[in-house]
Amino acid sequence: MAHSKQTHKTTCCYCGVGCGIVVQKESDGRLTVEGDKSHPSNQGMLCSKGMNLHYTVMDQSDRLLYPQMRMNRSMPLQRVSWDEALERTAAVFRTFIQKYGPDSVAFYVSGQCLTEEYYLVNKLIKGFIGSNNIDTNSRLCMSSAVVGYKLALGEDSVPVCYDDIEEADVFYVQGANPAWCHPIIWRRIEAHKAANPHVKIITADPRLTDTGRASDLHLPVRPGTDITLNHALGRVLIERGYLDEEFIIGHTDGFTAYREQVMARSLAEAAEICGVDSADIRQAAEWIGRSRGFLSLWTMGMNQSVIGVNKNLSLINLHLITGRIGTPGNGPFSLTGQPNAMGGREVGGLANILPAHRDVTNATHRAEMEKFWNSPVKIASQPGLTATEMFKAMDDDKLKAIWIINTNPLVSMPDVNGVERALKKGRFVVVQDVSSRADTVAMADVVLPAAAWLEKEGTMTNAERRITYLPKVLDAPGEALPDVEIIWRFARKMGFTQEFNYQKASEVYAEYVKTTTGTHIDITGLSHEILKKQRSVQWPYRMDSQEGKSPVKVPRLFADRTFYTPNQRAQIHAVPDGNASELTNEDFPLVLTTGRIRDQWHTMTKTGRVSKLNQHVPEHFLQIHPDDAAARGIKPGQLVTVRGRRGEVRVKAELTTDTRRGVCFLPMHWGKILNSSLGRTNNLTNSLVDPRSKEPDYKFTAVQVVPY
Ligand code: SF4
Repeated sequence: MAHSKQTHKTTCCYCGVGCGIVVQKESDGRLTVEGDKSHPSNQGMLCSKGMNLHYTVMDQSDRLLYPQMRMNRSMPLQRVSWDEALERTAAVFRTFIQKYGPDSVAFYVSGQCLTEEYYLVNKLIKGFIGSNNIDTNSRLCMSSAVVGYKLALGEDSVPVCYDDIEEADVFYVQGANPAWCHPIIWRRIEAHKAANPHVKIITADPRLTDTGRASDLHLPVRPGTDITLNHALGRVLIERGYLDEEFIIGHTDGFTAYREQVMARSLAEAAEICGVDSADIRQAAEWIGRSRGFLSLWTMGMNQSVIGVNKNLSLINLHLITGRIGTPGNGPFSLTGQPNAMGGREVGGLANILPAHRDVTNATHRAEMEKFWNSPVKIASQPGLTATEMFKAMDDDKLKAIWIINTNPLVSMPDVNGVERALKKGRFVVVQDVSSRADTVAMADVVLPAAAWLEKEGTMTNAERRITYLPKVLDAPGEALPDVEIIWRFARKMGFTQEFNYQKASEVYAEYVKTTTGTHIDITGLSHEILKKQRSVQWPYRMDSQEGKSPVKVPRLFADRTFYTPNQRAQIHAVPDGNASELTNEDFPLVLTTGRIRDQWHTMTKTGRVSKLNQHVPEHFLQIHPDDAAARGIKPGQLVTVRGRRGEVRVKAELTTDTRRGVCFLPMHWGKILNSSLGRTNNLTNSLVDPRSKEPDYKFTAVQVVPY
């Protein structure tokens, strides 16, 4: 038989870097992957996770293949048809909605979902069920950045593009480890620095990571003091005359209050609070002040905080007082965690927003979407339950039914024992997933098998607002269906036959595109067909009114100094610098912070199956400073118990000066199924959230560590 090979271009399904991938499919079904040299986001590079993606696709041993359900949790799950599973789910949802109202049901979705999937679930619950109870695991990762951008710039809009990396000469990385978590962006920064030795990298992180090691300056900031550090940088920038006064006067509000705020604390006092040398703060400010291009990069150390919004604002302020935004090499760059967290936000996949960055609390926005959808109900005027609120409401029996799509909250949510209790008590739990390794399957009344990466088509938006089309390359195994089809089939079972009468994901995308008309994220020049030809484009991508003209490319926003606020001026917020995390005390004297390791993704349902990836860090571990370990009689490699106010974890200790005294670190990945005797990291974390972004405080938990 002649040997044939098919080539497809797609996008990596792990992180928000959004690397282009070329998939080769051999005639015998074998797959290979390599970086797509023509994709502007990665130019052919892939990290270890991306390079091993084909193994996760070819190993089907854990796949959910058929719909299953049970009439009560003491019974085993039984295989049923799609019609049976969806008709029962629709009947249960209808009953709860009639008896307890639309807010008795909720969808909890994922930054792994494609834009079309996000859009359709959002349309169903907000426009047709009449509840805003849809939230996503992006709430756990990006929502503080979203609120920060909105308050400062007027909308959730990342102003920069990856090409700004080669234009910048100072990088300020705060609360992030891109060397491990956004490796391809980091490689571009490293290559740029290697070619331009004058380029400076400053990293602020309580831990010395590979990012910090490669930096010119590591500021080992105490957890919870990032705002004090940024204010101190602001103070030095003011004192040294590094302001852009023309920009401040012409395009911002709030500078006077900001100056008062940052001048209220001396540099020496701020350095003492942060646990950082004042000379290092001065040095960092000098580099920022003298730079031509100043790019700041941040992720979870800033976002996953009870003061996450204020942390974001304190960082964005450094750009606004120096006018370093909207020009090549300059801007605040929130690195997206998940591959399509941004696409989800664009279509309104959070409890407080509607498509195209509309807001549920805005009557005009609600009316626009009600008209567009021809909604049979009024869109609720208040935000729905956010991620942590959903499980709390289920624990309190206020939320009766939850539908969990492509995410594993029994490992990833904070205070996860509370989530487990809630799901056990929950009256009706639907789990829609690819893998039987999702811990939630054990709690489900209905299990729906979803198609995985390469088995469905749709779009995703990466961290630089770049939209890429992902083609269907393979048939899904068994009876697994694309998520978008599961939702439209369910909506029809709910009686919304006309409004959910789609045949293809491209029709869903075309509908979403229309909702962006005239907005700041206008993509009316786009369709699946155009994306197949163009490969990827950044938003906005408006269709020019004159036929034959190409849409104008907008690599960076605010180049004209016009912001999306009502008065078109950026807002400098004089935020307080205090922390509001739980307190350490004699019983729990250490601060635990959590994060990722290089070769694993989230709850390891995919990467945990790839032996090459497991070799990097084969087992769960706690990083603790040798002095803290010695004070507790802990030896290297010894099994220890990490104890907090809500639970405990048993794990081996790694003694390292890479973490500050008083701060210890656990990776987030290991869950119960993979690691039953040792426990989940999120047994320890707490459900305190930022009051505005509702993002949890994962990076600050009071714990004690003792030998086991
Ligand atoms: Fe995939 Fe992110 Fe790695 Fe790129 S950097 S290959 S998107 S995991």
